[in-house]
Amino acid sequence: MTGLHVPMRPAWTCAGCGADWPCRTKRVQLLAEYERARVSLGLLMSAYFVDAAEDLSSHASGLLYTRFLGWTRASAAAGQGQRHG
Ligand SMILES: [Zn+2]
Repeated sequence: MTGLHVPMRPAWTCAGCGADWPCRTKRVQLLAEYERARVSLGLLMSAYFVDAAEDLSSHASGLLYTRFLGWTRASAAAGQGQRHG
């Protein structure tokens, strides 16, 4: 047992906990790892998103986008007040 929260393709479930990847634990780890490199995190997750969209073609791409990328910018909860539109 590795305990590593890595994706198992083509289902994109987590090898460490069985949740949909990126699981909650992995998101926390990535946000910590890329705390000062959010653009890099976005690029990384964009690459995963493209791969996952191929494997999970039956999933709505909007949902996949939220799953892979929606959380990468969510940490502005501290109150930066940035918004779209
Ligand atoms: Zn996991």
